[in-house]
Amino acid sequence: MAAERNVELGFVEETEKFLLKSRFFPSKVGGVPAWLSLNPLPSAEELTCRVCSKPTVFLLQVYAPDSSTSFAFHRTVFIFICRNDNCCKANCADNLIVLRSQLPKVNDFFRSQPPAEVPIENEIDASKYAKLCRVCGGVGPKTCGKCGCVSYCSKEHQAVDWKAYHKRECSTNKTDLKAEKSYAVLFPEFEIVTETEIYTPKKDAGQTSEEEKMRQYKEFLESNKGSDFSTSFPEKELQSMASQETVDDKQIRKFKERISAEPDQILRYDKGGEPLWISQSTCPVSIPDCSCGAPRQFEFQVLPHLLSHLQVDKLGTSLDWGTLCVYTCSNSCDVGNQYVKEYIFKQDVV
Ligand SMILES: [Zn+2]
Ligand SMILES: [Zn+2]
Ligand SMILES: [Zn+2]
Ligand SMILES: [Zn+2]
Repeated sequence: MAAERNVELGFVEETEKFLLKSRFFPSKVGGVPAWLSLNPLPSAEELTCRVCSKPTVFLLQVYAPDSSTSFAFHRTVFIFICRNDNCCKANCADNLIVLRSQLPKVNDFFRSQPPAEVPIENEIDASKYAKLCRVCGGVGPKTCGKCGCVSYCSKEHQAVDWKAYHKRECSTNKTDLKAEKSYAVLFPEFEIVTETEIYTPKKDAGQTSEEEKMRQYKEFLESNKGSDFSTSFPEKELQSMASQETVDDKQIRKFKERISAEPDQILRYDKGGEPLWISQSTCPVSIPDCSCGAPRQFEFQVLPHLLSHLQVDKLGTSLDWGTLCVYTCSNSCDVGNQYVKEYIFKQDVV
C-alpha cells in the first residue's frame, strides 16, 4: 500500500478577538472576514447567493501561503454562504462562494515584520479604503437615508441592523461606529488551529467481506418484498444496484472511520491530494480550470462537525453539508490585489 500523505487537520478554538484581525493573517471561522487584500474588496454583487440573489455571509477563511511564487507570500482562501436554508440543496454548491486573495511580502497594506501581539488603536483594516457594511464587513455602498452615517452592502443587511440596533441609534443620533456589534446573521467567531493527522489505517477499514456483501444484498431484497420492485427488475440489475449501494456504504464507513480518530476536526487540508469523500457516486466528474488556464487542484475540505459550532441546527430544513471541497488554481496565479473566484463542491449524504 502506498504511504499515506500527511493531512493537516483544522480545529476551532476560542481566542482573543484582536488576534483574528487582518494583520495577523488568521485562519478563522465566523464573525466578519479578516480581509487579506484590503483594497479592492469583492463587490456586493460578487458576494450574492446564486440561488436567491441575497447577500451571503462569511463562513471561514484559511491562510495558506504558496512558497513557490513570490506573489503568494500571503495567500488566503475565503468561503461565504447564504443563510437562507432553502438555498441549501443536496450536492449543490450554489449557496456557497469561494474567493482567493494573495499578496507579495512587500505589499500595499502590511509591513514585512510580524505584528506585535497587542491590541492597537487604529487597526489596519479595509475600512481605511472603503465604507464597509456594518453587518457583514463587506463593501458598503449604501448608507442610511435618515442619518447618512452607517453603511451597508444591501437593503437586507440594513434591515438586519435596523431591527437589531440602528432604529434606536438613528433617532437619537447616538450611532457609535467603533463599538463592535454582534448580529445573529453572522456565525460565532473562532480561530482555526491546525495539527498534522496521525493516522494508522485499521486492517479491515472500508473493506466489505463477500459474506457481508451477500448479507446486505439479501437484506436489500428482503426489504423490497411485497413491492413489485423485485419482480420488475431483472436479477442482474438488482445485483448491480445492491453493489452500488455497498460502494457508497463502504465510502461512508471509510469516511467515519478516518474522522473518528480526531472527531473534533472541522477541516482537512491536503493541497494537491484527494478529498475524503462521503460518497463515491456523487463525486465531481471534472473540476473547471482556473481563468488563467491552469488546472485547479483540491486544497481543503470542510467537515460536517463545523455545523455543531455554528448554532444552525433547528427542526426541519437547516444549513447543512456532508463535506465542502475547495479546489484552487494549481499555479496560485497572480491576481494583484483582487479577489478571484475558485471552485467549491458540496457533497451530501442523500
Ligand atoms: Zn440564497
Ligand atoms: Zn452586508
Ligand atoms: Zn440612520
Ligand atoms: Zn489561475
